[in-house]
Amino acid sequence: MTDLAISFADVAGAAGRIAGIAHRTPVLTSATADARTGGRLFFKCENFQRTGAFKIRGAYNAIAQLDEAQRAAGVIAYSSGNHSQAIALAARLLGVAATIVMPQDAPAAKLDATRGYGGEVVLYDRYAEPPDAVVARLMAQRGGTFIPPFDHPHVMAGQGTVAKELIEEAGDLDLLLVPTGGGGLLSGCAVAARALAPDCRILGVEPEAGNDAQQSLRLGSIVRIEPPKTIADGAQSRSLGQLTFPVLRALVDGIETVADDELVEAMRFLATRLKLVVEPTGCLAVAAALSGRIDLRGKRVGIVVTGGNVDLDRFAALVRAA
Ligand SMILES: *Cc1c(COP(=O)(O)O)cnc(C)c1O
Repeated sequence: MTDLAISFADVAGAAGRIAGIAHRTPVLTSATADARTGGRLFFKCENFQRTGAFKIRGAYNAIAQLDEAQRAAGVIAYSSGNHSQAIALAARLLGVAATIVMPQDAPAAKLDATRGYGGEVVLYDRYAEPPDAVVARLMAQRGGTFIPPFDHPHVMAGQGTVAKELIEEAGDLDLLLVPTGGGGLLSGCAVAARALAPDCRILGVEPEAGNDAQQSLRLGSIVRIEPPKTIADGAQSRSLGQLTFPVLRALVDGIETVADDELVEAMRFLATRLKLVVEPTGCLAVAAALSGRIDLRGKRVGIVVTGGNVDLDRFAALVRAA
């Protein structure tokens, strides 16, 4: 276990760095959810986080640890989603210039949000070249430090503060359910949960159409898939990372999958019962809890609700169709 990329000390260090910067988001409960599942459910609401998702935690923890020369040279990131906005805001808060590589067909709202947080957006054609090639070219031209969306120890440790706060607030847990894309959030949360609630079962949840994490843990090596077709756009990563996979392998008990129609049902449930607007990816763990496939009876269950960045028209269209 000593060769894992992060330890609980790294998560605790991240918690100190992000204190007063990232919100300590609320933990909500629902009598209806408890009655429906027979468990006691604790929803950690990162949809209320700054930039609308948990990723500010890892982004800030990473940029805050750059030295003066690195800060002066700026940071660079790519993502069509929540990591971009998180890097742009974290960089601005630390007085660091941020360049964000985004696909030219990314939703206008996401481009605007990233620019609004102070990031310089560089557009690329995702059918012509992969984003890492664009990043490599920009770094050769202007230097700067690349901050990946999940496969980085400081990003992983930052995301782990979600589970640290959840367990501090809810108390001991029997089960923790965590949405999973590249595994940055799940790896950090697993490290925190193993330290604070040693007997807690830890499950990742990913879209059924893109179950590469489930396949990877079963096979014992990283499985790479084609970009999955799912409404969970924050979990469309094609594989786990070189750093996240060993942590999941060592600490996580398994990966559950949920179908898109279950995500929509979870969106409706959260809106109706908890009055929460949550993006499809943010509902992965909730959908798993409501699916009936995991026995929650008599258990204290932590559920990470990861983000709320969904265009209102898209939200309405998804929940209306159900
Ligand atoms: C990034 C993201 C995830 C997945 O996190 P990973 O660290 O890539 O596993 C889940 N939900 C939301 C809302 C996200 O933005």
